[in-house]
Amino acid sequence: MNWKKIDKNNRKQEDGIYTAWKQQIADECYHQCVYCAIHEAPWGGIDHYHIDHFRPQSKFDELKNKITNLYYSCPICNKFKSDDWKNEPDNLNDICYPDPSDHNYSDLFNWDKTNHTLEGIYVSSKYLVNRLYLNRPQLIYERREYFLKAKADALISEVNRLIQLSDDLILVKEAFEIISSLAHHLHIRSTISPYKLVDIKKPKKNCE
Ligand SMILES: [Zn+2]
Repeated sequence: MNWKKIDKNNRKQEDGIYTAWKQQIADECYHQCVYCAIHEAPWGGIDHYHIDHFRPQSKFDELKNKITNLYYSCPICNKFKSDDWKNEPDNLNDICYPDPSDHNYSDLFNWDKTNHTLEGIYVSSKYLVNRLYLNRPQLIYERREYFLKAKADALISEVNRLIQLSDDLILVKEAFEIISSLAHHLHIRSTISPYKLVDIKKPKKNCE
């Protein structure tokens, strides 16, 4: 998991209403929540994620179907954000929601790699951490797993390097197998692909 800046620069306005554009918005936002960076797959796929009105619909009705005002959000962040809107996102040191198309959210937080909590660097990102509960237990779990996967990958390449250098390979190879197995299990969740509910519906039984 990691935040990504969303490219809205060359985004053409669509015709119609926003509810029809969920797939495009999901693609544009890398199928992950723009606020907490959790991918949709472990949380039930696109049908369980929401279209977020960055400037809330209740306060900016004219932006309801404006494509540049729409992002992809997990239901929990979307619920906590709700129709909250304090200031335009002109200054990161105002209480505001930084625009995910202007900033990579990775640059707004310090990630403590010992307990996997986030701390906002700016007034706005401190506000985000508190308002959206970005240190909720599920997110700490996800960050820890992401961190462990990266560590396991680094360890594998180090052991591979040792194998190339060592004459006595038995111990090194055993260590390699243990680490590979660990890494394999850590990576399994990352292999879930984006999906819709219809993709997992069981085939209808023949009742005749
Ligand atoms: Zn979220």
